[in-house]
Amino acid sequence: MSKTIEIKVPDIGDFENVDVIDVIVKEGDKVAENDPLITLETDKAAMDVPAPQAGTIRSMKISGGDKVSQGDVVLTLEVADEEQEAPAGEENEKPKQTEKAPEAAKEESKPEPKQADEYDGKVDQECDVLVLGSGPGGYTAAFRAADLGQKVVLVERYDSLGGVCLNVGCIPSKALLHVAKVIEETHFFAEHGVKFGEPKIETGALREWKNSVVGKLTGGLVGLAKRRKVSVVHGTGQFVSPHHVEVDRNDGKTVVRFNKAIIAAGSEAAMLPNLPDDKRIMTSTGALELEELPERMLVIGGGIIGLEMATVYDALGVKISVVEMTGELMPGADRAIVKPLEKRIRKRYENILLNTKVSKVEATKQGIKVSFEGKDAPKPQVYGRVLVAVGRHPNGGRVGADKAGVKVDERGFIPTDKQQRTNVGHIFAIGDITKAPLLAHKATHEGKVAAEVAAGEKSAFDARVIPSVAYTDPEIAWVGMTEAEAKDQGIDLGIGEFPWAANGRSLAMGRDDGLTRIYFDNKNGRIIGAGIAGTGAGDLISELALAIEMGADAADVALTIHPHPTTSETVAMAAEAYEGTLTDLYAPKKR
Ligand code: NAD
Repeated sequence: MSKTIEIKVPDIGDFENVDVIDVIVKEGDKVAENDPLITLETDKAAMDVPAPQAGTIRSMKISGGDKVSQGDVVLTLEVADEEQEAPAGEENEKPKQTEKAPEAAKEESKPEPKQADEYDGKVDQECDVLVLGSGPGGYTAAFRAADLGQKVVLVERYDSLGGVCLNVGCIPSKALLHVAKVIEETHFFAEHGVKFGEPKIETGALREWKNSVVGKLTGGLVGLAKRRKVSVVHGTGQFVSPHHVEVDRNDGKTVVRFNKAIIAAGSEAAMLPNLPDDKRIMTSTGALELEELPERMLVIGGGIIGLEMATVYDALGVKISVVEMTGELMPGADRAIVKPLEKRIRKRYENILLNTKVSKVEATKQGIKVSFEGKDAPKPQVYGRVLVAVGRHPNGGRVGADKAGVKVDERGFIPTDKQQRTNVGHIFAIGDITKAPLLAHKATHEGKVAAEVAAGEKSAFDARVIPSVAYTDPEIAWVGMTEAEAKDQGIDLGIGEFPWAANGRSLAMGRDDGLTRIYFDNKNGRIIGAGIAGTGAGDLISELALAIEMGADAADVALTIHPHPTTSETVAMAAEAYEGTLTDLYAPKKR
C-alpha cells in the first residue's frame, strides 16, 4: 500500500519569498530518506530541503527560479503506507545542514552478532564506553563520551597518548617542516640583503626540540583524561567477546567489560615486499627520528608523506630523489595546484622519477643499492637512506574483531554507517580503520559522532567535504571536487583562478609561486571544490570548506571583505575572477 504526501517548505527563519536555486529531483525519481530535493537560498545561506522518507516523486509544484515561503508545497511524494506519514512541514522542519542522525532510532536494532565468542572469565574493570586506541579520533571520542556522563576506559598500546598523529606523524613532522621553512627563508633573503651564513644543523638538539613539542601535547592529553576521570589502560587490546576487551599489559592482562565500544585503532605504514632488514630503510617514523643526514636519500612513493619528508630532508641539505609508480606526484590531488610544487622541486631535487618502480633493493656497505624499472629508469643507484612511503594499511585485522562479530573487509577496513556503527549495534568504529581518507581531522569528527551516539544522542557524520593538506613547500591544499572529478561527472564547470604573483603579501614574503583556484557548478553558481598552492594554503582552505558546507556561491565569498594585505585575498579574488568583477588583474569574465 502506498499514499501520497505533500512536501512543504520548512521553517527557514524570518525569510519570505526565498529563491529556489536548484531543483535536484524530477517526477518519477526515487529518493531515499534524507536525499536533498531542492535547494533554497536566503541572504544568509543556502539549504537543502531533504526527503522526510523514502519514496517516488509524483508531481513537482515548483521549478528553479521560483520564490517560496514557509508552508508552500514543493512536491508530492508517494511513500509506503506502513511508514508513518511525516507531517509535511513538521518532520521536514529542519534544513539539511542542521539535520542530525536519521538512524538514531536504530540504536540497538542491529542484532548481536551470530558468530561472536562468549566470555565468562574474570572481569577487572567495567565501563559504559571503551575506546580502543588514543589517536586524535580515539581521545576525542573518549573525552566527548566522558563529557556526556559516560564512564570511559581508553585503551592504548603505547606509553604515551595521541597515536601516530601526535607521536610519529602530523605533529613531529610539522615541527621539522617549520624548521625547513625557516632555513629556506634565510636562503632566500641571503640574496636580498640579509645574510646569516650556512646553517649548522645539530640533529640531536633538533630532535630534542621536536620531542619537546610532542611531549607538551601528549602530556596535555594525560591531564585532560584525568580531569574527565577517563581511565587509561596501557597495553594491546583485543576483543574476546562482543562485550569484553582483553588488554595485554607488559606485566599482565586486564579484562574490561563494556556496554559500548569505539574502535579507533588506526593504520600502519605499508612496506614493500622483499626489503632487506636494515635501519637505513625507514618508514616516516624512522625518518622523523633524524638519526643521521645522508648525502643522498631516495623516497619511494610520491604521495603526501613522501613529499613532506622530502621537504624536510631537502632543507637540511640532503640530495633527494623521489620514485613514484604512477605518472603523477600526489595522485588524487588537483593537478593544477600540484604543478607549482612540481616546478619547484624539479629544480631542487636530484631526480623525480615518475612511472617508475623499484625492482630490487640491496643493503651494501656503501649504502642501499636500488634498481629501477620503467621506460626512463636510471641505472642502479646507491643511497645513504631510503624512505618507504607507499601508503598505509588499516589495522582492522589486529583487534580481534571476529571475537566480537565485527565485520572487517578484505583490505582491513571496518565498515560503518553514518552514525559510525559497525554491523554490531553497540560497537562503533572511527578514523583510519573505517575508510579513506586517512586523515586526523576526519577521525576527530567521527569520534565525536560515535561518542554522542553511544551516549544516546542523535548525531550523524554529515560533512559534505573533508579538506586535504600536504605540508610541502609550497603547501598544497584542496577540498571538494577536483577539476578532473568535476569533468568526469559531466558537471558544467566554471573556474575562478588567482595567481599569487599578483598578491602583495605573497610578493612581500618572497613567494610568488602560489595559485588559488575555485571550482563552480555553472548550473547554480555554487562552489563545489577548491585548490590552493602556496605558503599557508592549509590554513586558507578552511574558508572554502565552509563555503561548500554553506552552499555558497562566488558572490558570497567575493563580497565578504578579506583583510589587506593577506594571502586570504587570493580566495576572494579567485571568486571575483569567476564573477567577472576582478580588478587586480586584467581578466575579462571567462564563463
Ligand atoms: P599516499 O597514498 O598518499 O601515497 C603513496 C604513494 O606511493 C602513491 O603516490 C602511490 O602511487 C605510491 N606508490 C605505491 N607503491 C609504490 C611503489 N612500489 N613504488 C613507487 N611508488 C609507489 O600514502 P602516504 O603518503 O604513505 O600517506 C599515507 C596516508 O596518510 C595517506 O592516506 C595520507 O592522506 C595520510 N597522511 C596525511 C597527511 C596530511 O594530511 N598532511 C600527512 C601524512 C599522511
